[in-house]
Amino acid sequence: MADLDRDLRRLIAHHGPLSVAEYMAAVLVHPRSGVYTARDPIGAGGDFITAPEVSQVFGELVCAWCRVVWRTFGAPDPTLLVELGPGRGALMDDFLRVSATDAEFHRALRLWLVEASPAMRAVQRRSLGAAEATPPPSWCETFAQVPDGAVILLANEFFDALPVRQFQMTATGWRERRIDESANGGGFRFILSPPSGAAALIPGRLANAAEGSVVEVSPARIALASQIGERVARFGGAALIVDYGACVSGAGDSLRAIRKHAFHPVLEDPGTADISAHVDFAALAEAANGAGARVFGPIAQGPFLERLGAKERARALIANATPEVATEIESGLARLVDAEAMGTLYKAVAIVAPGAAAPPGFE
Ligand code: SAH
Repeated sequence: MADLDRDLRRLIAHHGPLSVAEYMAAVLVHPRSGVYTARDPIGAGGDFITAPEVSQVFGELVCAWCRVVWRTFGAPDPTLLVELGPGRGALMDDFLRVSATDAEFHRALRLWLVEASPAMRAVQRRSLGAAEATPPPSWCETFAQVPDGAVILLANEFFDALPVRQFQMTATGWRERRIDESANGGGFRFILSPPSGAAALIPGRLANAAEGSVVEVSPARIALASQIGERVARFGGAALIVDYGACVSGAGDSLRAIRKHAFHPVLEDPGTADISAHVDFAALAEAANGAGARVFGPIAQGPFLERLGAKERARALIANATPEVATEIESGLARLVDAEAMGTLYKAVAIVAPGAAAPPGFE
């Protein structure tokens, strides 16, 4: 990743040390050498694996959830089916296979994929080429570019990839953590910038934070949650966001890099490891509420999928499977729902129009 390394150094030379958010954005979506732009980091052969890659049950249940919710908001035709950061297209592929069994629902869907990386778009084009999409998908770079109308919006492990800023409590108050070059042509290192007005971004929520504690704030995530809330409140629809993180805003440095399924030092060899930070679900909910929408959850992924019938669906698949495939289905399901795997840390949140009833799984 020599040109990413070089560009990071140039940025620091011209503008000074980078915020954690600037560093994350560069590492993930640098035009040539970002984790998502230069390659496909998802899957067994990549850096990390996601729920729809683990088991088809995930996308199938998400589709079932959307069918029910679509009817409760009046079954509009057309409805924009928007996926943020579709990765390799696994969730959408499973979704469309199930939605195709409900002609009325399937016919109403207009598929919009929000994807920043041309490399990932190419992967999605290939994986959805054979899918029963009616009509074929449209791509755009940001949610703001999706045309107006009622939406069903899905975002699995997308918000964690949006940049966060970090602030640390010191004897002189909150200071932003930034990334600078080490001396003598070494790597990169964290520094603390002088106290500044930016600390006002931490809206009094941690007034008594102990010295040394770190908080994360993501203007990008908050702006997006607010856009989604506004859209759903104005045009109708529902959003289902699944990601890892805490229900309550709190302190803690959750910035992490993952390379080939193992943790990796965040500042070492940028671009060779995926980088992300926990999602602050309370902050997302507050933003969507503030935009006029209603928010349900968060609820942990394990109980959420179980309420939607994950065990029953897996059992039905196993009934028709070879012993080998049956074992895979069992272990995939366990990974999605078990507390020590993805069942507790991962959470689901639903954003719906004001006055809408609780969607399935959130009752
Ligand atoms: N939802 C998929 C993949 C999650 S990985 C799954 O569950 O398997 C994150 C996805 O978001 C990738 O497709 C990545 O290319 C895309 N992405 C990351 N940052 C983005 C940004 N700022 N804007 C749009 N897409 C982004």
